[in-house]
Amino acid sequence: MTRQQTLDRIRDHRGPWDFIVIGGGATGVGAAVDAASRGYDVLLLEQHDFGKGTSSRSTKLVHGGVRYLQQGNVPLVMEALHERGLLRQNAPHLVRELAFVVPNYLWWEAPFYGIGMRVYDLLAGRHGFGHSRVLTTEEVLARIPMLEQEGLRGGVLYHDGQFDDSRLLIDLVRTGVDKGAILLNYAPVVRLAKDGAGYVNGVSFRDAESGAEQTVLAKVVVNATGAFADGVRRMDDEAAPPIIAASQGVHIVLPKRFLGGETAVMVPRTRDARVMFAIPWHDHTVVGTTDTPISDVSLEPRALSEEIDFILETASGYLSEHADRSHILSVFAGIRPLVKAGDAGNTAALSREHTIQISKAGLVTIAGGKWTTYRKMAEDCVNHAAMLAGLDERPCVTRDLQIHGYHPSAPQYGAYADYGADALALRGLVEGRPELDAVLDAEAPVRAAQVFWAVRHEMARTVDDVLARRTRVLSLNAKAAMRLAPAVAAVMAAELGRDERWQHEQVAEFNTIAERYLPS
Ligand SMILES: Cc1cc2nc3c(=O)[nH]c(=O)nc-3n(C[C@H](O)[C@H](O)[C@H](O)COP(=O)(O)OP(=O)(O)OC[C@H]3O[C@@H](n4cnc5c(N)ncnc54)[C@H](O)[C@@H]3O)c2cc1C
Repeated sequence: MTRQQTLDRIRDHRGPWDFIVIGGGATGVGAAVDAASRGYDVLLLEQHDFGKGTSSRSTKLVHGGVRYLQQGNVPLVMEALHERGLLRQNAPHLVRELAFVVPNYLWWEAPFYGIGMRVYDLLAGRHGFGHSRVLTTEEVLARIPMLEQEGLRGGVLYHDGQFDDSRLLIDLVRTGVDKGAILLNYAPVVRLAKDGAGYVNGVSFRDAESGAEQTVLAKVVVNATGAFADGVRRMDDEAAPPIIAASQGVHIVLPKRFLGGETAVMVPRTRDARVMFAIPWHDHTVVGTTDTPISDVSLEPRALSEEIDFILETASGYLSEHADRSHILSVFAGIRPLVKAGDAGNTAALSREHTIQISKAGLVTIAGGKWTTYRKMAEDCVNHAAMLAGLDERPCVTRDLQIHGYHPSAPQYGAYADYGADALALRGLVEGRPELDAVLDAEAPVRAAQVFWAVRHEMARTVDDVLARRTRVLSLNAKAAMRLAPAVAAVMAAELGRDERWQHEQVAEFNTIAERYLPS
């Protein structure tokens, strides 16, 4: 469906929607997929692009959360481990097992973390991703040749999941569409509509491309706007006290050689008593993250210089080649939409569990949680919202719902593996047109076919949509992304029927965004 067809369907919709979901991140899209797959009539509106907020800026782990185990939150870990298993089952083209090593430099670490990881295995039960075990120093170095060797006394091996967050989100958007929902990006909700009794019964949104405003009605409105949730809650009640304690997390991206191999490192206790990861991802090494309380939320949060220093310093304690700013290919920051609990001074200690809140006027807000548990969050949210709206009771079906692109052995598709079952159609697109299959930049292997695909089938509207979220170039290598921008704009312009001026504007806008991904 084109954007215009989608807008026409919204305009021509008869009567109120069962659900309107505000926010196109993991939480909102998850809720839309859940509700649509139960057979409800669903509209989702996203102010910018799907995943522009936090959901494209995670550490890319599908995990139970070893840290929450350290905090003693066993129910949260068990729930997340269960969801980790379901996600690999339902999206095997994007979720894979990843081996981690906790390197040991002190005598007590092997028994301590060895037991901890054994408990982690046991909590996963039949959803386990592989058994943990204690490794000798030689075994650790065979897996992670670039680990700091001085004082190394072996390590503990365990297994978790890894994914591509924005690719999964786009496939969830397509799952929602496959199930009959309408999902629209570049459609900010600007007001809530209320009936005569003051009850929320719809929203007004703006088509960010044309500027046209429209009011749409619904039996229930779900606020799934993550770190922006309080802004939408204040559209309902100007005096609503804030519930979000936003915290920023930063990652730096280094060339692959800094880690070497395909095993990740988990640092269980940094100077500020947190965990940190160095992870192999798309042929690079991602290192992070930080946890810095912030007062202002934005769609393009910027890494603080001291956050970058902290990551570099921590990495240098564990990796034999010491990285500095000149090695950093990209820096990306995301905002955790943590739910306030009393003193929000230390956000690392705040609960990662989700909260569902229903206002007096009937606005349902869902916040908190994490990517790994998005499905369970959606199930809880739709159960509450459907009951509130008096909709027919219909059971959740997402436990066994295959996500768009589902394919059990996608790596066979090489460069198009992340597209899963869609890889065949992409290959069809390039057949007889080798120019579409050629990489556009040696350091960032994006193909013109992917740009076409993103515009035709994945609702990409801007160069940023393509380079940041349909492909991952911006997060992996900001300078390569800037080099690629003109070629991407040209391919998009041909497909969208845009002129040269649009291309220049797009490239300029993209460069302004990409500058923020260079280390300060
Ligand atoms: C640094 C970091 C690392 C993380 N790592 C992991 C990890 O490895 N594994 C894991 O499981 N979880 C991880 N998480 C947590 C996970 O990423 C988040 O819990 C999740 O992405 C939150 O999704 P969301 O949909 O609630 O928020 P968002 O993704 O921010 O989505 C909210 C959306 O609402 C939209 N919106 C706001 N206002 C409006 C409006 N008025 N109209 C329309 N739309 C609006 C925004 O544009 C945004 O796209 C991490 C989080 C951070 C910050």
